[in-house]
Amino acid sequence: MNREHPVIVIGAGIGGMACAIALAARGVAVEIVERAGRAGGKMREIRTAGTALDAGPTVFTLRWVFDELFAEADTCLDDQITLKPLARLARHAWSAGERLDLHADAAATADAIGLFAGASESRSFLAFCEEAGAIYRTLERPFLASPRPGPLSLASRIGFHRLGALAGIRPFETMWRRLAAHFQDPRLRQLFGRYATYCGSSPFAAPATLMLIAHVEQDGVWLIEGGMQRLAEAMEALARRLGVVFHFGREVREIRLEHGRVAGVRLADGEQVGACAVVVNGDAAAVANGLFGAAVSHAATFVPPERRSLSAVTWSLVAPTGGFPLLRHSVFFSADYAAEFEDLRSRLPADPTIYVCAQDRGGTDGAAPPGPERLMMLVNAPPNGDGCGLSDKEIAACETRLFSRLARCGLEIGKPSEPAVITTPADFHRMFPGTGGALYGPATHGWQASFRRPGSATAIPGLYLAGGSTHPGAGVPMAALSGRLAAQRLITDLLSTRRFHPAAIFGGISTA
Ligand SMILES: Cc1cc2nc3c(=O)[nH]c(=O)nc-3n(C[C@H](O)[C@H](O)[C@H](O)COP(=O)(O)OP(=O)(O)OC[C@H]3O[C@@H](n4cnc5c(N)ncnc54)[C@H](O)[C@@H]3O)c2cc1C
Repeated sequence: MNREHPVIVIGAGIGGMACAIALAARGVAVEIVERAGRAGGKMREIRTAGTALDAGPTVFTLRWVFDELFAEADTCLDDQITLKPLARLARHAWSAGERLDLHADAAATADAIGLFAGASESRSFLAFCEEAGAIYRTLERPFLASPRPGPLSLASRIGFHRLGALAGIRPFETMWRRLAAHFQDPRLRQLFGRYATYCGSSPFAAPATLMLIAHVEQDGVWLIEGGMQRLAEAMEALARRLGVVFHFGREVREIRLEHGRVAGVRLADGEQVGACAVVVNGDAAAVANGLFGAAVSHAATFVPPERRSLSAVTWSLVAPTGGFPLLRHSVFFSADYAAEFEDLRSRLPADPTIYVCAQDRGGTDGAAPPGPERLMMLVNAPPNGDGCGLSDKEIAACETRLFSRLARCGLEIGKPSEPAVITTPADFHRMFPGTGGALYGPATHGWQASFRRPGSATAIPGLYLAGGSTHPGAGVPMAALSGRLAAQRLITDLLSTRRFHPAAIFGGISTA
């Protein structure tokens, strides 16, 4: 496989880079074309008040996915970035007097729940952990780390003789209903129901299967020293060492076909580049919406706006705080979760749940740095960035409600050093075309949703998909898994077909 017939990966997000690394480690020539000026995609940093802040993912889990990826390339994740496990996973607040911490140690969490909601709820938590862990173990290899199955092939991978395990993944029950069976206290249902939003879904519509996310966090949350962007940088550096060529600031406008098979891409400036295969790491919805040309739009399924996952509004700022002992990850809950998700169908919630990432806090005690600190605050939002969007007035009103809820929980945020940098669904839509600002592909609502997500291979020979909008799902580790799956499938296909087309190589492109 030579340089003149590279695999072209469209997008240097986590899934795109994972795919490139897995391919290059097997000797495949890979070039990544990225419309932004840097690698990482949604994993991005912004600068304000003279410093850098994580403005995308902040919770790093399932490190084994990256351990395996780096090992595939004969290197070690720990040699490239410094990871520190969090002893206290997150602090949750409902009012000034109602706070609950989740700990990495389940027994410590059970004790905390006992004090917060009583001994019976503490026991329920341990039963919930059992169930969430069992779902995760059932699905880890047969689903998460394997090509997208159908319902029957999943049953066969798990083993028809393991009917108990199959039924135990609870695809036909909503998460909310299952949580109600576990917990009497509505605050605990809300806390554990929030895990559905990790893939942009509502706990009222998501299958109880998503309880496995609780296990994923319980299994370990790590801080990356210097911020999440260091992971994107480490992946870029590793890919380059393996010979992957990056082309930043270049946008693919068309995936070209010859005789029904992928032959290359056309860039925004008209340049055409040949390829033996193309992997789209942009959202699969961009393919379906025709953003890569009408000829390939049938390679992905159109996702109507009502089936999209959630978007978000984020505020990134450097400001003094007081009155509430923030941890690295803190969540301030709304009074009525059902009403919040009802609002999210079309507007910003009247009473939003707020996630605050205090990026200078990492110790067990969450000790505050002296002076102003780096904060990212996030509320969920409807994915309407390509439609009516959100007006400045709506965002300002949401900000007022956000600060008043934080104040009711005791958190005062002083004047920021510079005005907060606000990112809206329309901004996310501009950065991630085809999405409407949906951050996690299609929502995981109903038992069929996971089986409807696109897999790596498409109906078009030579065209593959990788990233958070595809199987096995959204989130940093899932996107990386999808990239590895796409690489495995592509290599299998290349080796079996050995069909290569003469192709032009990139000319005069900046590879900064
Ligand atoms: C605010 C926020 C918070 C989040 N929090 C978490 C968290 O705490 N933990 C977690 O695990 N996950 C979190 N996520 C989700 C996680 O960030 C994503 O699921 C994951 O990073 C997606 O990776 P990806 O491979 O799909 O690529 P993406 O990040 O979607 O990147 C795709 C890339 O393709 C490029 N591209 C698109 N079209 C073209 C084109 N035509 N030509 C060239 N390039 C193109 C884009 O510019 C982009 O760089 C969060 C996301 C956001 C936005």
